[in-house]
Amino acid sequence: MLFRQLFEPQSSTYTYLVGCADSGEAALIDPVLETAERDLAELAGLGLSLRFTIETHIHADHVTGASALRDRTGCRCAVPALSGADRADIAVTEGEAIRVGKLDIHPLHTPGHTDDHHCYFIDDGDGGRIFTGDALLIDGCGRTDFQNGDSAALYASVREKIFSLPPDTLVYPGHDYNSRHVSSVAQERERNPRLGGGRTVEEFIAIMAGLNLPPPKKIDIAVPANRRCGAPD
Ligand code: FE
Repeated sequence: MLFRQLFEPQSSTYTYLVGCADSGEAALIDPVLETAERDLAELAGLGLSLRFTIETHIHADHVTGASALRDRTGCRCAVPALSGADRADIAVTEGEAIRVGKLDIHPLHTPGHTDDHHCYFIDDGDGGRIFTGDALLIDGCGRTDFQNGDSAALYASVREKIFSLPPDTLVYPGHDYNSRHVSSVAQERERNPRLGGGRTVEEFIAIMAGLNLPPPKKIDIAVPANRRCGAPD
């Protein structure tokens, strides 16, 4: 499997490039509009053609690069079915893998940050990787105070669906604000201060209720734009 972890500094978003060397096909998980050209250059450098953009959820903090990348490459835009996004080509549901050459990308429905949120699991035979979007971050998690967020649902998603994966599965988050890149299921299961160890759902709900975060700066632009795959009006 060919792989790149790419970073967009304004929103501290990670975009993941996954590619199949045999077929020359690739997908981008959570591309950002501002870095679409950078992503195309990465693909070209690896000799890959883009087949899919794949969203973990409708983002509130940045506009997806999906539509811009589709315009340039003819790729198909995959968005969780539950998002109800206009102009999506593929409605993602758990149990229906997205195939990129020899790679199968398995969606896992992980509501809580948003109700449409999906993580993506890939096991290429060389160890598993889970792309956790904003469900599970390194030593943290996505917020649950807007877009149908639900702390109890997020607790169940992370503990039942992510922490039940093989312990050496690598965890690649949708964001990191402290220059960290990767963790593992074992490390987060044992040490995540919000969701790991013996944390109860009651403790987690109280932690999330006490965060008092300001609204994301771009929410009024990003959410409607992302509901049309990042296309202009
Ligand atoms: Fe988000």
